[in-house]
Formats: sequence, structure tokens, C-alpha cells
Amino acid sequence: MIVQQTASWLWRGVNQLLWPAVCLNCGRGIVEADGHLCRLCWDDLLSRAAGSPCPRCGRDTSRYGMLQGACGACRGEPLQFDGIARAGVYGGVMQELILRFKNGCTDLDSVMATLIAATFDGSGWGSGVDMVVPVPLHWRRRLARGYNQSAILAKSLRAGGLSLSADLVRIRHTKQQPAMVSAASRRRNVAGAFVVRRGHRFAGRRICLVDDVKTTGATLNECARVLKEAGAARVYGAVLAVAGQGN
Ligand SMILES: [Zn+2]
Ligand SMILES: [Zn+2]
Repeated sequence: MIVQQTASWLWRGVNQLLWPAVCLNCGRGIVEADGHLCRLCWDDLLSRAAGSPCPRCGRDTSRYGMLQGACGACRGEPLQFDGIARAGVYGGVMQELILRFKNGCTDLDSVMATLIAATFDGSGWGSGVDMVVPVPLHWRRRLARGYNQSAILAKSLRAGGLSLSADLVRIRHTKQQPAMVSAASRRRNVAGAFVVRRGHRFAGRRICLVDDVKTTGATLNECARVLKEAGAARVYGAVLAVAGQGN
């Protein structure tokens, strides 16, 4: 009897090791078909993705709040990128997953790749894009973290036949700013932080910048400005989540 029980525990233990059928977010048991997350976590994640984003800035809006392609929050805001698509809004399970993804949980790579691919495909401009560019980390931060999460996302989009360039680089170690900091201060923080490498192939390209989170958009805006200065024809942004609705 005891032997049988032990064998069954052992079998379950080995099975768990081979097929860790637990939710990557909350640790609840799942069936394989659930795709790494439990039903509750998927429901929360999908609810964050349910809103109707402004195609210009990515903030939640309603289609009645749009005027000449801009929502109330971004109307009059000078934006260098030509459009933005996002998987959802930053919060709940979306936020927890992004934080885990940034902090070394490589098991989440496939979930995040699915989210960014769906975002790109649903953007309306994805079919016109011919190059993906990750928002770069400063080498010092990449060294500390071991990888750039935006590069993982960008690489997963390359599977669709897009070229990938790492010729946009961050030359200044910018301060990480809390969400409450003003838009003007964020703009100052990233001004001059990015350059393109000599020999880049950005001229005439239709580029999709890839990042995990857009807060005020100052980083994406500065990257898009630098890419356009280098000759890019169009620059769009694809992000997992938009934070700080700013209204
Ligand atoms: Zn869960
Ligand atoms: Zn907007």
C-alpha cells in the first residue's frame, strides 16, 4: 500500500518535472491545453486586452472619442511614430507577466511571443512593415539583466519573414522613472539617448519598433525620431501593454 502510494507520488513528481502543468503566473494546476496559464489568469489577461485603443497613441478610448485619427488624450501631441498597436493595458495579470518576463522567467517567452504576434497581425499596418527593431537597453542594463526583453519579442516577429536590425543603440544610461513623472521630464530624460550605428539599413524602410511597455511614449517617440532622421519611411510601435493612461 505504502509502496504503491510512494510510487504514485513519485510518478506525479516526475510528471510535474517533465510537464510542469502549473500556471506560470499563479501556480495553479492547469491542463496542457490551457497554454501555460490557468483559466482565471487567461480571463484576466484577455479582459486587459478587451478595450478599444487609439491607433495613434495606444491609450484606451472609444471610437466616438476619435477625431481625425486622434483621441482626446493625444490630439495635438506631436508624435514621431505613425501608429501603435498593443496587446492590452498594463495592470493585473498583464503587469505580473511582463514583470516576470523582464526578471528572467524564460518560460514566458512563448506566451509573450504569441501576444506580440497577435498585436502585430491585428495592427492594420503590420503587412506594410519590412523591418523590426527592438527598443534597445543600455549595455550596462543589459549586462545586469542578461538579456533585452524587447529583443526577444522582436526576434519572435522575425519568424514571419521580417528582417531584424539591432542598429539602433542606446548610448546613455537613462534613469528609470516612476509612472507619476511628467511627460516633459520623460522627454528630457530620453533626449539624445539613442543613435544609429554606422552602416545601418534604415533608409526607406517601414519599421516596427518593439517594446514591452509604453508609458508616456517618450522613449518610442525619441526612437522613432532618430530612425526617421536616419531615413526610415514609416515607424510604428508594437508593445505588450500601454501604461499610464494619462487621463
Ligand atoms: Zn493562473
Ligand atoms: Zn490617442
